[in-house]
Amino acid sequence: MQTKINTAQEAFGYWKAMPLQERIGLVDNLKKVLHENRLHYATLITQEMGKPITQSLAEVDKCGVLCEYYSENAAALLQTKHIKTEAQESFVTYEPLGVLLGVMPWNFPFWQVFRFAIPSILAGNVVMVKHASNVPQSAESIEALFMESDFPIGVYQNLHLPSDKVAEVIAHPEIKAVSLTGSEAAGSAVAAQAGKYLKKSLLELGGSNAFIVCEDANLDKAVAIAVNARMQNAGQSCIAAKRFLIQKTVFATFTEKYKLAVSQLKVGDPMNTETQIGTLARLDLAVELEKQVNQSIAMGAKVILGGKRKDAFYEPTLLVDVTPEMPVFKEETFGPVAALLAFDSLNEAIAISNQSEFGLGVSIFTEDINYIRNRINEFHEGAVFINEMVKSDPRLPFGGIKKSGYGRELSEEGIKEFVNIKTVVIN
Ligand code: NDP
Repeated sequence: MQTKINTAQEAFGYWKAMPLQERIGLVDNLKKVLHENRLHYATLITQEMGKPITQSLAEVDKCGVLCEYYSENAAALLQTKHIKTEAQESFVTYEPLGVLLGVMPWNFPFWQVFRFAIPSILAGNVVMVKHASNVPQSAESIEALFMESDFPIGVYQNLHLPSDKVAEVIAHPEIKAVSLTGSEAAGSAVAAQAGKYLKKSLLELGGSNAFIVCEDANLDKAVAIAVNARMQNAGQSCIAAKRFLIQKTVFATFTEKYKLAVSQLKVGDPMNTETQIGTLARLDLAVELEKQVNQSIAMGAKVILGGKRKDAFYEPTLLVDVTPEMPVFKEETFGPVAALLAFDSLNEAIAISNQSEFGLGVSIFTEDINYIRNRINEFHEGAVFINEMVKSDPRLPFGGIKKSGYGRELSEEGIKEFVNIKTVVIN
């Protein structure tokens, strides 16, 4: 580890001094290599964590879109900002911090790494990534991709480490900050260690997003989006919709349509382009999900679709009669399980939505945009999406509040997370 940190430190010396346009040129190379080998990388993702190949391809392509966004915008986003004061001159510059550590998860093995690494590197930092242990080939191939794209040695390094060694890396004086995407437990451990050494941390943790359908919503549109919002990536996404709050007057119709749509999802070999839902990434994740569902059933929830596990495959599942005390409501369900609840008024829906310990995002379906616009501030979330599922977009900030973490990735906010915002006054 020490050798890799020395390499990173050395690389930082010349990387931060390199003109931004040259750094951008390398990101452009990377985008090209990524695109030329998209099937290769997508196949790796599918083989390692089971995601259907069409979704792996979409993930790789989205990494390309992110590279393009930052290539086009980094210069403007990092430009010195002049501010008028009584001084002769006052301005703000954005300078890199140094060597950053990324602790990354397996659910989007490329995307999660890219959204941390690309803006950080363009801002002049160098990165070391400790990827999840169940995606070692994706981890290595991302490092190889940087090398093939002519990045100098040490700008991006893969740290092949068990998680109990992460604390040691954070403690190292040359590591200036850490970004983690993963579970609450991992986030809390990493943030505690970073806090001990007074280093900045950014946490993207779990979520239990509500998906609210009001009686005036376009139900067919809401149903179609609800399928994707919960079942994409077999439900293994922090921003997936997990709690479905449906207004009582349309509960039966929505549920019937949703059940039909979910039951038609094509299950099968993830390498087949027709397949829409595969197994979970690991057996222990499926066993944990089964436990959450079974406990909820014991507390009164009713299964109206699915509900069974075979090895790491968990059937797309719909549960009704869910209450806020149940694990499927209180905890993050990282798999294809939708918990449905009925509500009377929007006041009630907002209260139920906010009852979660998480605060990543919420979707609301209604035709009355003017009315809902005035109530956006009542949702305790990092994102509110109206008539759309919560999704990440390089142009928009991404992150949560409460137990979903802190800090923002993507967009202008993301590229400014790991910089020294330096105030300069000249008189
Ligand atoms: P983890 O949070 O354990 O893994 C995410 C990353 O953190 C991995 O690189 C992991 O390394 C590392 N890690 C784990 N524990 C520590 C620690 N104490 N100190 C430092 N690094 C650590 O997620 P799991 O894979 O176990 O998934 C469990 C649950 O976490 C899921 O069911 C889901 O609820 C949530 N999760 C949320 C994600 C999100 O996108 N927000 C992504 C993944 C999981 P290693 O693999 O070596 O253990």
